[in-house]
Amino acid sequence: MSKLALGILGGGQLGSMLAQAAKKINIKTIIYCDDKDAPARELSDEFIYGNYEDKKNLEKFIEKVEIITFEFENIPFKTLDYLSKFKKVYPNPTVNKTLQNRLFEKNFVNKLGIKTTNYVSINNAEEIIKNKSLLPGLLKTTTLGYDGKGQYKINKTDEINNLKINFSNKYILEKFINLKKEISVVLTRYHGNKFEIYEPIENEHKDQILKHSKIPAVVDDNIMEKSKEWAKNIATELDYIGTMCVEFFIDDNNELYVNEIAPRVHNSGHLTINAFNISQFENHIRAVCNLERISLKKISNAQMINILGDEIIEYRKKKFNNNEFFFDYMKKKIKLKRKMGHLTILKN
Ligand code: ADP
Ligand code: MG
Repeated sequence: MSKLALGILGGGQLGSMLAQAAKKINIKTIIYCDDKDAPARELSDEFIYGNYEDKKNLEKFIEKVEIITFEFENIPFKTLDYLSKFKKVYPNPTVNKTLQNRLFEKNFVNKLGIKTTNYVSINNAEEIIKNKSLLPGLLKTTTLGYDGKGQYKINKTDEINNLKINFSNKYILEKFINLKKEISVVLTRYHGNKFEIYEPIENEHKDQILKHSKIPAVVDDNIMEKSKEWAKNIATELDYIGTMCVEFFIDDNNELYVNEIAPRVHNSGHLTINAFNISQFENHIRAVCNLERISLKKISNAQMINILGDEIIEYRKKKFNNNEFFFDYMKKKIKLKRKMGHLTILKN
């Protein structure tokens, strides 16, 4: 029998790890990406370089694949929608339409009766002044932000002018929370409303970029359960197929809030490669290809360290113990704060 051909849009580190997981279970991968130096190029079975809006080029991709998925949420909705006219796309593109926009995303979560930080839509400086009760706050672009990009911390209204905010973008203003902790729940939803849910992961950010993740998360049982239940409700409501992640805040008063939803495999879930029988990547491939679901078993507790920018140079020279797993994303250029690799340490 010939191998099932899975198309993946995007060829960064997430695309690379998806391609590796697919190979392990005998699924052929064809990656389409707008970066010709994409790290996943060498790891996929086939690679097509092209713009996400180039229909002619996308046709080549459509012809080669049976099912389509994507590595990150900022693939234009139009592209996913176009592709879905020809081949099955999982998770379904309407998921992205909701989650690509922080305002739509937060409105959606609140409608489910799930708590987020307080927020308002912002189009100009006057609207910030009108909503100064949300200060200190974070002003975030509604679209295309990641790793803290497109965010401004505003403590007082008199800071607004100095920030030189570009109001041709749309924003939301979010109340700043005194974070006690951040956690995430990575889950995979299969056809037939079946789930595999990883235990909550505790995350530490520096300059709005994930630095460390670990299991077990040190939080109350009540938060453990509530976070998993909320993540499950969100996935069900989205009729989600594949792996996704919900990021949470826990404040000083032990209140749980949903921060954001990633309709894809997630950086905090990288430790699942070594700490579980089935990684978040393999679960994603299994779900979107409608393969057998295998119950999760934890192998070990773990800690994951993100390697940013030129930190990678030292790591490339290091020797590692048997319980340490170094991943080099093989990116051609080292850039400040860019995710270059990660290290997972298994700890019992
Ligand atoms: P991104 O899309 O860039 O990941 P997030 O909204 O997740 O954006 O913000 C990145 C990080 O910034 C969060 O994980 C958290 O550490 C911090 N942060 C974001 N919003 C708030 C907030 N309202 N209060 C306190 N910290 C926040
Ligand atoms: Mg985030």
